[in-house]
Amino acid sequence: MEELLERLLEGCRPAARQGRVADYIPELAKGDSEALGIYIMSSEGKRSWAGDCRKAFTIQSIVKPILLLQALLDNGAEYVMSRVGVEATGKPFDAINAGEQSLDSGNINPMVNMGAIVMCSLIHGRDYDERFQRLLELTQRMAGEEEIGVDEAVYQSEKSHGSKNRALAYLLKSHGLLEDDVEAVLDCYFRACSIRVDCRALAHIGAVLSNRGRLPVSNERIFPAAMAQYVNAILMTCGMYDGSGEFALRVGVPAKSGVGGGIMAVVPTRMGIGIFGPALDRKGNSVAGIQLLEQLSKELHLSIF
Ligand code: GLN
Repeated sequence: MEELLERLLEGCRPAARQGRVADYIPELAKGDSEALGIYIMSSEGKRSWAGDCRKAFTIQSIVKPILLLQALLDNGAEYVMSRVGVEATGKPFDAINAGEQSLDSGNINPMVNMGAIVMCSLIHGRDYDERFQRLLELTQRMAGEEEIGVDEAVYQSEKSHGSKNRALAYLLKSHGLLEDDVEAVLDCYFRACSIRVDCRALAHIGAVLSNRGRLPVSNERIFPAAMAQYVNAILMTCGMYDGSGEFALRVGVPAKSGVGGGIMAVVPTRMGIGIFGPALDRKGNSVAGIQLLEQLSKELHLSIF
């Protein structure tokens, strides 16, 4: 397996040149565009890796499925569905959902920013510090790493360059879709995006989703199987934003990308995969990372279709 991963990874490295590191948040622009790494965690606990798989980066949008899980655990599926819908948006992650679609909960998807901001407000806790702490603890448990924390520099950068997210949050508030104080909710969202991970952590998180809510190796249950099904279904249709259709064709498994260059892929019942490749395509997805997953999917017959 290691040999296969090394070979595929080296073949995919040049693809990074077709992409660019995200620079709409200054701190993200410091990312290494040449980096590429992969880590696989099988449901039985077998690990394989290649490349820059222990380099740290921020989780960014890959926190959205974890936000969704925490919201589901705290409120149940029925309530969550009444606040954020499940239909694909076919739009970029930061799209302002207004105009051709009415702004109501059914048109807000949890895998794009508007939905993620609403989900921060659904997490239970006395204040937003406690809510974020609970989200961080779920992330640490799923990743199998207690030391996971926030990248302070990225958090500050997100916060001071967050005008678009502020616009989205105020739009939600003005439509009665967000009850709490906008700045408090956004602070939780910015911190959530700035959680520091590596490919190993993403593979571990993906393995819990592929294992229907149980930790690999120990088999300890973290959330009900029905919640894994809920999250994986949404990842399949919306996890790669407006690139989800093409990703379904090329790779064929539920996955979530982030502008930090990460991709977490879930191969139901088989494995979780963590990818790091910060050079992004125009939709904000890792160029070399998608190519690597496409080739791996062909070699190991991973597509669920
Ligand atoms: N921090 C990012 C934002 O909200 C997360 C988006 C992403 O990874 N696509 O702007």
